[in-house]
Amino acid sequence: MGLGKEAVMAETWSGEFYCVKCKEKREAEGEVKVNDKGTRMAKAVCPVCSTNLNRILGKA
Ligand SMILES: [Zn+2]
Repeated sequence: MGLGKEAVMAETWSGEFYCVKCKEKREAEGEVKVNDKGTRMAKAVCPVCSTNLNRILGKA
């Protein structure tokens, strides 16, 4: 399962995240992380309540 490039620059993603604390969608910009299953996740912080936001972006 070699996906190649390991040392990539931090990628950012901006868009809608669902904040579980506000129970609303929030526009935010966050960093893209890839987990060990190869699923891309965006991580950001809610601009209103500072809760960590996660959004699954899908397979790389
Ligand atoms: Zn929030």
